[in-house]
Amino acid sequence: MTISTYAGVMPASRGSVMLVGAGPGDPELLTLKALRAIRSATVLLVDDLVGNGVLRYARRTTRIVHVGKRGGCQSTPQAFIQQLMLREAQAGERVVRLKGGDPFVFGRGGEEAEYLRAHGVAVEVVNGITAGLAAATALQVPLTHRAHAHGVILVTGHAKQGDAGLHWPTLAAAAAQGLTLVIYMSVATARQVQGGLLPSLPASTPVAVVQHASLPQQRHAVGVLGGLVALIAQHQLVSPAIILIGDVLMGLQQVASAQEHAA
Ligand code: SAH
Repeated sequence: MTISTYAGVMPASRGSVMLVGAGPGDPELLTLKALRAIRSATVLLVDDLVGNGVLRYARRTTRIVHVGKRGGCQSTPQAFIQQLMLREAQAGERVVRLKGGDPFVFGRGGEEAEYLRAHGVAVEVVNGITAGLAAATALQVPLTHRAHAHGVILVTGHAKQGDAGLHWPTLAAAAAQGLTLVIYMSVATARQVQGGLLPSLPASTPVAVVQHASLPQQRHAVGVLGGLVALIAQHQLVSPAIILIGDVLMGLQQVASAQEHAA
């Protein structure tokens, strides 16, 4: 067996960090493992998409640090969050980094784990239910219903700065082959989603937008790809939301258009 060493690894230090998925918001969707981690933390570093309902499980003595960027506050720089995790872990705290959804799905969990390991801090990762799955289930849409789809693509509509971003024709071709698209961080870029996919996908392709999936304030709208931007504007849907695209939504779309005609 070969044990590979990671270039740049520092000597092992004390302390450890758990990167924990808090799920989409409904505390009932926490895993037992996440719950146990939250209860055992002495320091909780919390992202902005983590619901308050989840934080109620922390012990009263736990120090809770919000490192999110919503509510008009400045984003806490990623480098600062990483340094903070490291410092607290090295000081012997039981650090739990609580992230919305799953820590390894568009959550920068990978970067954080790499940073900590490179500094000799042990990292444990606990899955959470990712928002895309919660959004589909909120509408009772089976993402891989075998009559319509043979797979799912989780994709971000928000490219990293300097990134070329998505290659829409490739994505559209995949969707046309029966892969359901689950698009994160995409409400603000819906125009690109619609414009990018339309040349290769029919305008009648079903879409749904789900805001605040799993939370009491959950809202959604159902329509077609050709009207995605208008749908978002009409229903005033904003982040955090997921866009779902594909024939697995067909049933929903039929119900929505029947209701529209009846109105
Ligand atoms: N790690 C997270 C994703 C972080 S990226 C996860 O696995 O879910 C942030 C994006 O996630 C948001 O822009 C939005 O697209 C999505 N998101 C997070 N929580 C959501 C929720 N409750 N409802 C709908 N979308 C959500």
